[in-house]
Amino acid sequence: MEVSKRLKSIPPYVFAEIGKKRQAAIARGVDVIDLGIGDPDQPTPRHIVEAMHQALDQPVNYKYPPFGGTREYRLEAAKWCHNRFGIDIDLDNEITSLIGSKEGIHNIIAAYVDPGDVALIPDPGYPVYGTSTILAGGTPHHMPLGASNDFLPVFEDIPQAVALKAKIMFLNYPNNPTAAVCDLSFLERAVAYAAKHDILLVHDLAYSEMTFDGYKAHSVFEVPKARDVAIELHSLSKTYNMTGWRIGFAIGNSQPVKALAQLKSNIDTDVFKAIQMAAIAAFNGPRTHIDECNALYTERRDVAVEALDKLGWHVKPNKATFYMWLPVPAGMSSSQFSNLMLDTAGIVVPPGTAYGPSGEGWFRVSLCTGKERLKEAFARMEKHAITFDRAAAKV
Ligand SMILES: *Cc1c(COP(=O)(O)O)cnc(C)c1O
Repeated sequence: MEVSKRLKSIPPYVFAEIGKKRQAAIARGVDVIDLGIGDPDQPTPRHIVEAMHQALDQPVNYKYPPFGGTREYRLEAAKWCHNRFGIDIDLDNEITSLIGSKEGIHNIIAAYVDPGDVALIPDPGYPVYGTSTILAGGTPHHMPLGASNDFLPVFEDIPQAVALKAKIMFLNYPNNPTAAVCDLSFLERAVAYAAKHDILLVHDLAYSEMTFDGYKAHSVFEVPKARDVAIELHSLSKTYNMTGWRIGFAIGNSQPVKALAQLKSNIDTDVFKAIQMAAIAAFNGPRTHIDECNALYTERRDVAVEALDKLGWHVKPNKATFYMWLPVPAGMSSSQFSNLMLDTAGIVVPPGTAYGPSGEGWFRVSLCTGKERLKEAFARMEKHAITFDRAAAKV
């Protein structure tokens, strides 16, 4: 039996590949330090788990959940957005539940992209934007994110012919993998660009609460005109240490929200009601655990910044996400560096190319590992003389 041409048209999921290499090293007896995948190492807060326990004891929750999320879930998610961003959401038209934002990314593409259409995607970027576009028969157009422009795309660089064919544009700030943040004026320019070219703007806001040093992330809907052109994907995964629970929501213009909900109603049957009730407990719970996690990530970041400085990587401390985006040493490709790190130091780091062609010359470090393990990783780099010479690398 042959698998579809569609499936053959996409590469294997990058983290599945990295996972295989990691497993092989562990099987060889290597004490692997995984600075690869971005998955919070802290547990889901107790009050959320307790809400799930209670919901599990109510048989009414065992039935099919309503499409688009329960009214209560939408209400509490909307209230959370109101408190956090000062925005108002119409519960019947402007919000729908998601089985995590990865699902939302795939399905919003399926709802809007036809063969021949272009999707504008950040490069480097979360891999799903590109692969789901290819699965839909569309063509990804990479918007390079470079250090010289603070890892923001330059809309003026998008060729006019590409803009004409573009149906959808993805933005993601705070950003994975570069850890970059944006200000409101950038989002204003993005909204204006999308409006001018009749493009659906999708803002992936998975890291909205994972910010440090006083920076606060923006919802695109803080830009009033965004209502005309945008949809925003929210996720509880990174905010509440709930990656395995699979829950999020989309807010925004009623047309894309309804299109997404319509498509989803034909494919999935929403999120287990008990999980929606746990999510409500998350929305209504104290913010202390978010602050605690951010303090933990800040502490790890500072450990990393200091250790990297000694190794020659002089980096500005990132204001958001648990990632660091670093240049590879001169004379090496990203994948060569990634292999070197695993083979000589037993450290997993994804090569920048896993996130797009502009990731060449870069690698990502995740800070989802305890401080002592992080220190151990940098000590191993020092021991094996894995260092960075800025002058040689010319970045
Ligand atoms: C982690 C991540 C997601 C996926 O989150 P889920 O809600 O768990 O599916 C989406 N976008 C980006 C940029 C991410 O890093």
